[in-house]
Amino acid sequence: MAVSEFDVIQRYFQPSRPTRADVHLGIGDDCALLSVPAGQQLAVSIDTLVENVHFLAGCDPEALGHKSLAVNLSDLAAMGAEPAWATLALTLPRVDEMWLSAFAKGFFSLAGRYGVALVGGDTTQGPLSITVQVHGFVAPDRALRRDGAKFGDLIAVTGSLGDAGLALLTDYHRHDESEYLKARLERPTPRVDAGLALAGVASAAIDISDGLLADLGHICERSGVGAEIATNQLPLSPAVKEYIKNRADWSLPLTAGDDYELCFTVPAERQLLAENQLRGRGCELTWIGVIDQAPGVRCRNEKGNKLTLGTAGYAHFR
Ligand code: ADP
Ligand code: MG
Repeated sequence: MAVSEFDVIQRYFQPSRPTRADVHLGIGDDCALLSVPAGQQLAVSIDTLVENVHFLAGCDPEALGHKSLAVNLSDLAAMGAEPAWATLALTLPRVDEMWLSAFAKGFFSLAGRYGVALVGGDTTQGPLSITVQVHGFVAPDRALRRDGAKFGDLIAVTGSLGDAGLALLTDYHRHDESEYLKARLERPTPRVDAGLALAGVASAAIDISDGLLADLGHICERSGVGAEIATNQLPLSPAVKEYIKNRADWSLPLTAGDDYELCFTVPAERQLLAENQLRGRGCELTWIGVIDQAPGVRCRNEKGNKLTLGTAGYAHFR
Protein backbone atom coordinates (compact mmCIF):
# COMPACT_ATOMS: atom_id res chain seq x y z
CA MET A 1 0.00 0.00 0.00
CA ALA A 2 1.27 3.45 -0.87
CA VAL A 3 2.59 5.48 2.04
CA SER A 4 1.16 9.02 2.08
CA GLU A 5 2.74 12.29 3.16
CA PHE A 6 0.65 12.09 6.34
CA ASP A 7 1.88 8.57 7.15
CA VAL A 8 5.47 9.77 6.75
CA ILE A 9 4.93 12.66 9.15
CA GLN A 10 3.16 10.51 11.69
CA ARG A 11 5.56 7.58 11.53
CA TYR A 12 8.85 9.41 11.49
CA PHE A 13 8.45 12.95 12.72
CA GLN A 14 5.53 13.25 15.12
CA PRO A 15 6.99 12.67 18.57
CA SER A 16 5.18 10.19 20.77
CA ARG A 17 6.81 11.54 23.92
CA PRO A 18 5.87 14.86 25.50
CA THR A 19 8.01 17.71 24.24
CA ARG A 20 9.05 20.98 25.87
CA ALA A 21 6.78 22.95 28.18
CA ASP A 22 7.04 26.00 25.89
CA VAL A 23 5.45 24.03 23.00
CA HIS A 24 1.71 24.56 23.41
CA LEU A 25 0.85 22.99 20.08
CA GLY A 26 3.35 21.04 18.00
CA ILE A 27 3.10 18.99 14.80
CA GLY A 28 -0.41 18.33 13.50
CA ASP A 29 -2.12 21.70 13.17
CA ASP A 30 -1.69 24.53 10.68
CA CYS A 31 0.87 26.24 12.90
CA ALA A 32 2.81 25.44 16.04
CA LEU A 33 2.07 27.60 19.07
CA LEU A 34 5.17 28.46 21.10
CA SER A 35 6.16 30.85 23.88
CA VAL A 36 9.40 32.77 24.09
CA PRO A 37 10.60 33.32 27.69
CA ALA A 38 10.13 36.87 29.00
CA GLY A 39 13.14 39.09 28.43
CA GLN A 40 14.63 36.91 25.68
CA GLN A 41 14.84 37.50 21.95
CA LEU A 42 14.05 34.80 19.42
CA ALA A 43 17.14 33.82 17.34
CA VAL A 44 16.08 32.26 14.02
CA SER A 45 18.19 30.62 11.34
CA ILE A 46 17.60 28.34 8.34
CA ASP A 47 19.85 26.18 6.17
CA THR A 48 19.20 23.90 3.20
CA LEU A 49 21.13 20.81 2.15
CA VAL A 50 20.62 19.81 -1.48
CA GLU A 51 21.66 16.44 -2.93
CA ASN A 52 24.77 16.67 -5.11
CA VAL A 53 25.41 20.23 -3.94
CA HIS A 54 25.92 19.78 -0.18
CA PHE A 55 26.12 16.00 -0.04
CA LEU A 56 26.52 13.15 -2.51
CA ALA A 57 23.67 10.91 -3.63
CA GLY A 58 23.63 7.72 -1.58
CA CYS A 59 25.33 9.21 1.47
CA ASP A 60 24.49 7.83 4.93
CA PRO A 61 20.96 9.06 5.82
CA GLU A 62 21.63 8.93 9.57
CA ALA A 63 24.63 11.23 9.16
CA LEU A 64 22.49 13.50 6.98
CA GLY A 65 19.82 13.72 9.69
CA HIS A 66 22.54 14.71 12.13
CA LYS A 67 24.21 17.21 9.83
CA SER A 68 21.03 18.94 8.66
CA LEU A 69 20.30 19.89 12.27
CA ALA A 70 23.96 20.37 13.30
CA VAL A 71 24.67 23.09 10.73
CA ASN A 72 21.66 25.02 12.02
CA LEU A 73 22.54 24.56 15.70
CA SER A 74 25.98 25.85 14.74
CA ASP A 75 24.36 29.16 13.69
CA LEU A 76 22.57 29.41 17.04
CA ALA A 77 25.90 28.66 18.77
CA ALA A 78 27.58 31.44 16.80
CA MET A 79 24.91 33.82 18.09
CA GLY A 80 25.25 32.67 21.71
CA ALA A 81 21.64 31.46 21.62
CA GLU A 82 20.10 28.53 23.48
CA PRO A 83 18.42 26.08 21.05
CA ALA A 84 14.71 25.41 21.56
CA TRP A 85 12.71 24.45 18.46
CA ALA A 86 13.20 23.24 14.90
CA THR A 87 11.06 22.90 11.78
CA LEU A 88 11.92 20.57 8.91
CA ALA A 89 11.01 20.86 5.22
CA LEU A 90 11.78 17.58 3.46
CA THR A 91 11.59 17.07 -0.28
CA LEU A 92 11.91 13.39 -1.14
CA PRO A 93 12.00 11.67 -4.54
CA ARG A 94 10.08 8.71 -3.06
CA VAL A 95 9.10 7.25 0.31
CA ASP A 96 12.00 5.02 1.34
CA GLU A 97 11.23 3.82 4.84
CA MET A 98 14.77 2.61 5.57
CA TRP A 99 16.11 6.02 4.57
CA LEU A 100 13.46 7.89 6.60
CA SER A 101 14.00 5.88 9.75
CA ALA A 102 17.80 6.33 9.59
CA PHE A 103 17.42 10.06 8.83
CA ALA A 104 15.01 10.52 11.76
CA LYS A 105 17.38 8.61 14.05
CA GLY A 106 20.29 10.95 13.24
CA PHE A 107 18.09 14.04 13.51
CA PHE A 108 16.37 13.17 16.79
CA SER A 109 19.46 11.90 18.56
CA LEU A 110 21.15 15.29 18.06
CA ALA A 111 17.90 17.14 18.84
CA GLY A 112 17.60 15.21 22.10
CA ARG A 113 21.13 16.09 23.12
CA TYR A 114 20.29 19.80 23.02
CA GLY A 115 16.66 19.60 24.15
CA VAL A 116 15.36 20.73 20.75
CA ALA A 117 11.72 19.96 19.88
CA LEU A 118 10.66 19.44 16.25
CA VAL A 119 7.47 21.51 16.07
CA GLY A 120 6.49 21.41 12.41
CA GLY A 121 7.56 21.20 8.83
CA ASP A 122 6.55 20.37 5.31
CA THR A 123 6.84 17.16 3.29
CA THR A 124 6.87 17.25 -0.50
CA GLN A 125 7.92 15.11 -3.46
CA GLY A 126 10.83 16.15 -5.66
CA PRO A 127 14.66 16.02 -5.84
CA LEU A 128 16.13 15.28 -2.39
CA SER A 129 16.51 18.45 -0.37
CA ILE A 130 16.45 19.09 3.37
CA THR A 131 15.70 22.45 4.95
CA VAL A 132 15.87 22.91 8.70
CA GLN A 133 14.97 26.06 10.56
CA VAL A 134 15.99 26.47 14.18
CA HIS A 135 14.75 28.82 16.87
CA GLY A 136 16.60 29.69 20.04
CA PHE A 137 16.67 32.27 22.82
CA VAL A 138 19.20 34.93 23.66
CA ALA A 139 19.06 37.98 25.94
CA PRO A 140 19.20 41.16 23.80
CA ASP A 141 22.51 42.45 25.17
CA ARG A 142 24.28 39.07 25.05
CA ALA A 143 23.89 38.06 21.39
CA LEU A 144 27.20 37.35 19.62
CA ARG A 145 26.85 39.49 16.51
CA ARG A 146 29.34 39.80 13.66
CA ASP A 147 29.66 43.56 13.99
CA GLY A 148 31.17 43.91 17.47
CA ALA A 149 34.91 43.32 16.89
CA LYS A 150 37.16 46.23 17.92
CA PHE A 151 40.77 47.22 17.24
CA GLY A 152 43.05 45.27 19.61
CA ASP A 153 40.61 42.39 20.25
CA LEU A 154 42.14 38.92 20.28
CA ILE A 155 40.90 36.30 17.81
CA ALA A 156 40.21 32.69 18.83
CA VAL A 157 38.72 29.52 17.37
CA THR A 158 37.26 26.40 18.97
CA GLY A 159 38.37 22.87 18.10
CA SER A 160 40.65 22.29 15.11
CA LEU A 161 40.54 23.49 11.49
CA GLY A 162 40.72 21.74 8.14
CA ASP A 163 39.53 18.24 9.11
CA ALA A 164 36.32 18.36 7.08
CA GLY A 165 38.23 19.74 4.11
CA LEU A 166 40.71 16.89 4.33
CA ALA A 167 37.86 14.38 4.54
CA LEU A 168 36.42 15.81 1.32
CA LEU A 169 39.59 14.95 -0.57
CA THR A 170 38.93 11.64 -2.25
CA ASP A 171 41.99 9.88 -0.85
CA TYR A 172 41.09 10.25 2.84
CA HIS A 173 39.59 6.73 2.88
CA ARG A 174 43.09 5.33 2.85
CA HIS A 175 44.18 7.68 5.61
CA ASP A 176 45.11 6.22 9.03
CA GLU A 177 42.61 8.59 10.57
CA SER A 178 39.81 8.08 8.06
CA GLU A 179 37.17 7.43 10.76
CA TYR A 180 38.07 10.63 12.61
CA LEU A 181 38.04 12.67 9.40
CA LYS A 182 34.77 11.16 8.22
CA ALA A 183 33.10 11.98 11.53
CA ARG A 184 34.38 15.56 11.36
CA LEU A 185 32.82 15.97 7.90
CA GLU A 186 29.59 14.03 8.33
CA ARG A 187 28.76 14.54 11.99
CA PRO A 188 30.03 17.94 13.03
CA THR A 189 29.53 18.87 16.68
CA PRO A 190 27.73 22.21 16.91
CA ARG A 191 29.59 24.32 19.52
CA VAL A 192 26.39 25.21 21.35
CA ASP A 193 27.86 25.03 24.87
CA ALA A 194 30.84 27.13 23.83
CA GLY A 195 28.56 29.74 22.22
CA LEU A 196 26.42 29.99 25.36
CA ALA A 197 29.53 30.33 27.52
CA LEU A 198 30.87 33.13 25.31
CA ALA A 199 27.63 35.14 25.19
CA GLY A 200 28.30 38.44 26.94
CA VAL A 201 32.07 37.75 26.88
CA ALA A 202 33.11 37.70 23.18
CA SER A 203 32.74 40.91 21.17
CA ALA A 204 31.84 39.13 17.90
CA ALA A 205 31.44 35.56 16.65
CA ILE A 206 30.72 33.49 13.55
CA ASP A 207 30.66 29.78 12.80
CA ILE A 208 33.20 28.57 10.27
CA SER A 209 31.17 27.03 7.47
CA ASP A 210 32.95 28.60 4.48
CA GLY A 211 36.57 28.61 5.71
CA LEU A 212 38.37 30.70 8.34
CA LEU A 213 39.56 33.49 6.04
CA ALA A 214 36.13 34.01 4.49
CA ASP A 215 34.24 33.82 7.78
CA LEU A 216 36.67 35.93 9.81
CA GLY A 217 36.51 38.27 6.81
CA HIS A 218 32.75 38.63 7.43
CA ILE A 219 33.40 39.69 11.04
CA CYS A 220 35.99 42.23 9.85
CA GLU A 221 33.75 43.66 7.15
CA ARG A 222 30.75 44.00 9.45
CA SER A 223 32.85 45.45 12.26
CA GLY A 224 34.83 47.86 10.05
CA VAL A 225 38.20 46.40 11.13
CA GLY A 226 40.88 44.02 9.79
CA ALA A 227 42.67 40.97 11.18
CA GLU A 228 46.06 39.37 11.26
CA ILE A 229 46.45 35.71 12.08
CA ALA A 230 49.53 33.55 12.67
CA THR A 231 49.48 30.26 10.78
CA ASN A 232 51.77 28.60 13.34
CA GLN A 233 49.11 29.17 15.99
CA LEU A 234 46.26 27.50 14.10
CA PRO A 235 44.90 24.41 15.90
CA LEU A 236 45.43 21.42 13.60
CA SER A 237 44.80 17.70 13.97
CA PRO A 238 47.78 15.40 13.29
CA ALA A 239 46.24 14.48 9.91
CA VAL A 240 45.97 18.09 8.76
CA LYS A 241 49.44 18.91 10.12
CA GLU A 242 50.89 16.09 8.07
CA TYR A 243 49.05 17.22 4.94
CA ILE A 244 50.44 20.76 5.29
CA LYS A 245 53.94 19.48 5.94
CA ASN A 246 53.88 17.27 2.85
CA ARG A 247 52.43 19.82 0.46
CA ALA A 248 53.36 23.19 1.94
CA ASP A 249 49.72 24.12 1.36
CA TRP A 250 47.69 25.96 4.01
CA SER A 251 44.37 25.93 2.19
CA LEU A 252 42.77 23.24 4.43
CA PRO A 253 42.64 25.25 7.67
CA LEU A 254 42.31 28.63 5.94
CA THR A 255 39.86 28.23 3.08
CA ALA A 256 38.25 24.76 3.22
CA GLY A 257 34.84 24.97 4.85
CA ASP A 258 32.48 22.66 6.72
CA ASP A 259 34.35 22.64 10.05
CA TYR A 260 31.53 24.29 12.05
CA GLU A 261 33.93 25.57 14.67
CA LEU A 262 33.39 29.02 16.16
CA CYS A 263 35.66 31.96 15.38
CA PHE A 264 35.27 34.83 17.85
CA THR A 265 36.92 38.00 19.09
CA VAL A 266 37.52 38.97 22.71
CA PRO A 267 38.71 42.28 24.21
CA ALA A 268 42.22 41.67 25.64
CA GLU A 269 41.10 42.31 29.22
CA ARG A 270 38.61 39.43 28.93
CA GLN A 271 41.10 36.87 27.60
CA LEU A 272 41.29 34.92 30.86
CA LEU A 273 37.56 35.15 31.39
CA ALA A 274 36.97 33.62 27.94
CA GLU A 275 39.41 30.81 28.72
CA ASN A 276 37.67 30.12 32.03
CA GLN A 277 34.26 30.21 30.41
CA LEU A 278 35.25 27.58 27.84
CA ARG A 279 36.89 25.21 30.32
CA GLY A 280 35.01 21.89 30.50
CA ARG A 281 32.76 22.68 27.50
CA GLY A 282 34.16 19.84 25.41
CA CYS A 283 36.30 21.87 23.03
CA GLU A 284 39.66 23.61 23.07
CA LEU A 285 40.09 27.34 22.59
CA THR A 286 43.09 28.58 20.61
CA TRP A 287 44.21 32.21 20.19
CA ILE A 288 45.16 32.74 16.56
CA GLY A 289 45.59 36.47 16.00
CA VAL A 290 44.50 40.05 16.62
CA ILE A 291 42.07 42.56 15.21
CA ASP A 292 43.76 45.59 13.64
CA GLN A 293 42.75 48.47 11.41
CA ALA A 294 43.98 47.57 7.92
CA PRO A 295 41.04 46.09 5.98
CA GLY A 296 41.04 42.38 5.16
CA VAL A 297 42.47 39.28 6.81
CA ARG A 298 46.23 38.76 6.62
CA CYS A 299 48.22 35.63 7.53
CA ARG A 300 51.80 35.44 8.70
CA ASN A 301 53.89 32.28 8.88
CA GLU A 302 56.32 31.35 11.68
CA LYS A 303 59.01 33.58 10.15
CA GLY A 304 56.67 36.55 10.18
CA ASN A 305 56.32 36.50 6.37
CA LYS A 306 53.02 37.28 4.74
CA LEU A 307 51.21 34.34 3.16
CA THR A 308 49.30 35.06 -0.04
CA LEU A 309 46.23 32.96 -0.58
CA GLY A 310 42.90 33.16 -2.33
CA THR A 311 40.61 34.12 0.54
CA ALA A 312 37.36 33.07 -1.09
CA GLY A 313 35.22 30.58 0.74
CA TYR A 314 32.57 28.51 -1.02
CA ALA A 315 29.94 30.65 -2.73
CA HIS A 316 26.95 29.44 -4.74
CA PHE A 317 26.39 30.87 -8.28
CA ARG A 318 30.05 31.85 -8.62
P1 ADP B 1 -0.60 22.29 5.85
O1 ADP B 1 -1.08 21.69 4.57
O2 ADP B 1 -1.65 22.92 6.69
O3 ADP B 1 0.61 23.13 5.67
P2 ADP B 1 0.77 19.85 6.22
O4 ADP B 1 -0.15 18.80 5.73
O5 ADP B 1 1.85 20.33 5.34
O6 ADP B 1 -0.11 21.05 6.74
O7 ADP B 1 1.42 19.36 7.57
C1 ADP B 1 0.64 18.81 8.63
C2 ADP B 1 1.38 18.99 9.93
O8 ADP B 1 2.57 18.22 9.90
C3 ADP B 1 1.79 20.41 10.21
O9 ADP B 1 1.70 20.61 11.61
C4 ADP B 1 3.22 20.46 9.77
O10 ADP B 1 3.95 21.42 10.49
C5 ADP B 1 3.69 19.04 10.09
N1 ADP B 1 4.77 18.54 9.20
C6 ADP B 1 4.71 18.31 7.87
N2 ADP B 1 5.86 17.80 7.40
C7 ADP B 1 6.68 17.69 8.47
C8 ADP B 1 8.02 17.23 8.64
N3 ADP B 1 8.78 16.79 7.64
N4 ADP B 1 8.54 17.29 9.89
C9 ADP B 1 7.82 17.77 10.92
N5 ADP B 1 6.56 18.18 10.82
C10 ADP B 1 5.99 18.16 9.62
MG1 MG C 1 2.29 22.40 4.58
